[in-house]
Formats: sequence, structure tokens, C-alpha cells
Amino acid sequence: MPYRVLRPPYCYRWAVLLGVVVLAVAGTVSLFHSAEGAPTPVPAAQSLPTPPPGEAPPPVGGDLVRTTARQGRFVALTFDDGPDPTYTPQILDALTRAGAVATFCMIGANVTRHPELVRAVVERGMRLCDHTLSHDEQLPGRSEQRMTAEIAGCWSELQVAAGTDVAVPYFRAPGGNWSAPLSAVAARQNMKSLAWSVDSRDWTLPGTPQIVAGVQQAVRPGAVVLLHDGGGKRVQTVEALNQLLPWFVSQGYRFDFPG
Ligand SMILES: [Zn+2]
Repeated sequence: MPYRVLRPPYCYRWAVLLGVVVLAVAGTVSLFHSAEGAPTPVPAAQSLPTPPPGEAPPPVGGDLVRTTARQGRFVALTFDDGPDPTYTPQILDALTRAGAVATFCMIGANVTRHPELVRAVVERGMRLCDHTLSHDEQLPGRSEQRMTAEIAGCWSELQVAAGTDVAVPYFRAPGGNWSAPLSAVAARQNMKSLAWSVDSRDWTLPGTPQIVAGVQQAVRPGAVVLLHDGGGKRVQTVEALNQLLPWFVSQGYRFDFPG
């Protein structure tokens, strides 16, 4: 592993690994998770307000990104909870055929299992987003050390998987459960907190036509669209994407990254 990957102050792999081991022993790390729109119950004492399914999370200090980088008739597609060996390649192929770009919010545990998919995403000109090591949806209620370990740990896995220094300009909170301290930890690691303005609700498996229609009705110039390439069966998402990509083009949309 190239030594230059280990940058202070937050990227000491040993510290991260130690933190993960301690947390695992404590029984608090869960590698199982649900999709963004369906957050698991959070104990009241720890919880922050959770947005109802389908609703964008509330602003945290006004610094959540939910628009495209450029103004105009642009849309930013974002895919969460991968990489997934079945669906991520299909989505990459669809995006490439359409000449589109997208942002992939990856979970560190999946990155470790499928590092080649990180390289494929980067080689196709897509951007990476840190979606934490273990997708702990109660992260806003955890300690700052835990938040840091989850975010820095995923960042480190992405670097190792890419095999070179790779940009990870965004962080997305698991379950869309944001808090000001969580965004602050991400900001200290030079990551923008990436929310969304359109929830495709693909995680509810409503059927391909419903995903397509929902996005078509909700999208506006500058929208950031939430989709999923991991976390379950994503056949509907792939089918919807294959319909939505030419539709976006026909409507004069171009593809951009979040701002
Ligand atoms: Zn997620």
C-alpha cells in the first residue's frame, strides 16, 4: 500500500481499524442496513428528526448539497449503497451508453469486497461519495470519534481499492440521517454533505413504471436524484434508468455532478 495514502490527521489506517474492531466487539457495528428512505428506528434519546420517506432531509446549517454544480438544465444522478457486483456494472454501462455521469455513494464494507468496481466507476469518469464503513443509520447519535472512524474508514477503503489517490468530494449520511456535527466531521475531511432533491423511491420496489414516472414528475433543472445500485435487488432501478436516460436527453437535460 502506498504510504502516501495515509495522510494525517484522519487517515491513519491503524487507528481506523482499531476503532472498527473496538466497535465490532461492542456489538454496535451492523453491516445490514435499509435504503435511504426507510431509516431504521432510532432510540429517542439518540435520534434527530428523521425525514418522512420520500422527503428530502431538513437543512443542517444550510450546507447540504442538493443541486447540480452548474446552473441550467442539468441533473445529477446519485447511486447509493454499492458497489454491487450485479447492478453497478449494468448501471455503469447504461450511463456510458448515454454519455452520462453520476455519483456513487459507496459503503466501505462493499468497497472492501469489490474493489474492482471502484476502479471501474473512476475509470468511467464517475465521482465517488463516502457513504461510511458500515451504513450505521444512527450515526448522528454516536460519538464524534465514531463518526470520524466511519467516514475516514470508508475514505481509506476507497483509496486502497482505487490503488491511487482518488478524489472523494462528497459524504452522504446513511439513511439521509443528517446532523450538524456529522456534517462538520465530513467537512473537516474535505467532503461536502450530499443530500438530494428527488427521491426516486426505487428502494420501495414500486415497479419500473412508477420509478420512471416519479422521477419525470419531480425533476427540475439542477435536481439531485437519489437512486440505488446496492442494498437489494435493483432490477427495477436498472430498467428505470434505461428509460430515464434517453428521456432526460429528449427533454434537453445534460448530466452534471452535485455542486
Ligand atoms: Zn444508503
